[in-house]
Amino acid sequence: MNTWKISFVLTCLLLTSAVFLAAQQQASGVVVVQGATLINGTGSSSIRNSAIVIEGGRIRDIGPRNEVRVPGNAQVVDARGKWVIPGLIDAHVHFSQSGGIYTRPDVVDLRKWRSYEKEMEWIKQRLSYTFERYLFSGITGVVDCGGPMWNFEMRDIASHTKKAPRVVVAGPLIATILPPTTSANDPDIVKPDSPAQARDLVRRQLDRKPDLIKLWWVRRQGDNLNEQVQIMSAAIDESKSHNVRVAVHATELDTAKAAVRAGADILVHSVSDRLVDTEFINLVKNRDVLYITTLAVEDGYRMVLDRQVALTDIEQKLGDPEVIATWSELAKIPPGEIPGGIPHIPAPPKRPAAYDNLMLLESAGVRIVAGTDAGNIGTLHGPSLHHEMELMAAAGLRPMDIIVSATKNAAAVMGLQNDTGTLQKSKFADLVILDADPLADIKNTRRIFKVMKAGELLQ
Ligand SMILES: [Zn+2]
Repeated sequence: MNTWKISFVLTCLLLTSAVFLAAQQQASGVVVVQGATLINGTGSSSIRNSAIVIEGGRIRDIGPRNEVRVPGNAQVVDARGKWVIPGLIDAHVHFSQSGGIYTRPDVVDLRKWRSYEKEMEWIKQRLSYTFERYLFSGITGVVDCGGPMWNFEMRDIASHTKKAPRVVVAGPLIATILPPTTSANDPDIVKPDSPAQARDLVRRQLDRKPDLIKLWWVRRQGDNLNEQVQIMSAAIDESKSHNVRVAVHATELDTAKAAVRAGADILVHSVSDRLVDTEFINLVKNRDVLYITTLAVEDGYRMVLDRQVALTDIEQKLGDPEVIATWSELAKIPPGEIPGGIPHIPAPPKRPAAYDNLMLLESAGVRIVAGTDAGNIGTLHGPSLHHEMELMAAAGLRPMDIIVSATKNAAAVMGLQNDTGTLQKSKFADLVILDADPLADIKNTRRIFKVMKAGELLQ
């Protein structure tokens, strides 16, 4: 056979096999995750030797292997000896903050060493890496609880990026205080001085279609709570009249109560100043308010500002090394040159009030949600959710309840409870396959074997 003939035959062979492969791929658009112990996120008992049949990114059928019809040509993901949970969701992050020391000038003002503009530029450049860190951490959904108007652009980028979690956002925080360090150009915090201004600030976000309106309710000594109530109630009322839910930062019992009475749908922090009372528990329960824990963020600040950095295994593996590297730069800056100095975060009490409050609300049947406040100094985008879950366990929550809080309940914060958050028929196949049992120890959510978003395995 001459060279021409050989190449002709080879070409024919290649073409035939290409056609064959294409046909095979078309026929096997169905994927099955098979053999794992299934924890579906609803809180119901786990199912051993399960099968999850996935087609077009969604779950077509799911249940015990012997009750599910698996098409013969399905592509099999062998998960025998593994555990499968829904993709995790961090219900409280800020993409406009890096987690590094230059990111919150209202806490530590280091703008002389790196300007806010330069920090934002850097954050924008690293966005795709940050998205990936979430997925690799087993997180397929996040809620950005407020930032500059850039947040809406960031949400668009996420929706067009394959290796990105699902992202929902709030725009600028409508706040009771305005830190003097707030950027004038595309600010992340805005402060109304009257109820009318509060309504106006809500309306300015509406054409960008915010998933949530975020209020930052801080009461300083001497602030008049009644005045704050009038302004914040107007913001909540305006949002709700446009069918946009409201998430409120309120860490004190008094402001948290006022926020819920005014119609807040979501509290993004634990109440941490004192024990909650029956009045608060009933308010939150009766209005079905979602209560986000946000326990890890304080540890993050303390760790970096007191220069006692100790990372968990998954933070070391998946945390952004460039962000972590900034933490040690703090030691090189003379504290006397930092405007306002470095705040000292007091050592935590043996058992923080936030832990007891979490248990009181959980036992009252309130929907608890896992969230970290990632992006604040010391709280890493991605792996810090595992730290948060560890703290929820330290407070006394059972692993099953923690999983529900980081999946089903967090999906409710996203407003995506019909599409993700649990592994049930017709929902997206957003899931994590684990090498160890998360019900035996919540830390086993770090033992990630595979992550899947909308039926596609992340490699
Ligand atoms: Zn926050």
